[in-house]
Amino acid sequence: MKKDLFKTDSIKLTQSFQEACADKEFKDFVYGLNIKEEILEKYTSSLQDAFLECKNCDKCKGLSTCKNMVKGYKYTPVLEGNIINFCYDECPRETKRREANSYKDNLDLFEMPMEVKDASFKDIYKDDKARIPIIKYFKEFMDNYKNSDKPKGIYLTGSFGSGKTYLIAALFNEMAKKGEKSVLIYYPEFLRSLKASFGIDYNERFEYIKRVPLLLLDDIGAENCSNWSRDEVLGPILQYRMENHLPTFFTSNLTLNELEKSLSITSSGVDKVKARRIIERIKQLTVPLELVSKNRRD
Ligand code: ADP
Ligand code: MG
Repeated sequence: MKKDLFKTDSIKLTQSFQEACADKEFKDFVYGLNIKEEILEKYTSSLQDAFLECKNCDKCKGLSTCKNMVKGYKYTPVLEGNIINFCYDECPRETKRREANSYKDNLDLFEMPMEVKDASFKDIYKDDKARIPIIKYFKEFMDNYKNSDKPKGIYLTGSFGSGKTYLIAALFNEMAKKGEKSVLIYYPEFLRSLKASFGIDYNERFEYIKRVPLLLLDDIGAENCSNWSRDEVLGPILQYRMENHLPTFFTSNLTLNELEKSLSITSSGVDKVKARRIIERIKQLTVPLELVSKNRRD
């Protein structure tokens, strides 16, 4: 009885394979694989999928219009012993794209949108003179970066949506192309996640941020300042980076004076001295620049 069932199944497999082979192109495709027919028969439906992907590739007009199930990859049959495995073969265009983008691994984002990895010098808006001093400083920064006494970062203040984050991200992308590692942190959110990592990987995160070659603390001053964030997080990070000449960048809607006021007030009271100490460290670490421009978020 069992034997008969097996036989019927096998006949059905042969039948559906033969039916599929009525399509001449499919037939040429499968026979071109140089795999025995008795093996091919067991995989008709997957072979049809692979065939369709192959046809898509023959008509390829570029990665952006790739119709395959996994963009940039081709579902491909591979014979292993007496079975066919199907794997996803990377398309040469995808390999080229991936390799051209591999520098992006040098940028690490904490609570930042992925788009910042696409920021580049060539796309910086050139319609606005306000950017000129910043771009000039970037050039100096890049020229001097290899010196033993590393150049300072920037404290970039200015209006909401003017492109502050974009500019620093563009610099870090250019540095990444030269192999330099950086971390970009959306500071208010980072504080929340750092707090949540207590007892898990708090120390690892903290030490990593402290020591990374290039650091951006994005939107400083937008956080809810506490004694902990000011004295246990920001203070030690800045102190370490100052002592080790590690370039550190900030963006903020607040000027340094406004930031000082904001840092002096926590739920535990007012402490002007501790706030002053942080500002002194920021001044040591950066040159202050301003970007007032129209809001690009609309
Ligand atoms: P800010 O940090 O000053 O608030 P952002 O850097 O976030 O402003 O910029 C606001 C928006 O404008 C973002 O969506 C950003 O991607 C875009 N943007 C800013 N500058 C440029 C630029 N030079 N080229 C392309 N997009 C830009
Ligand atoms: Mg910003």
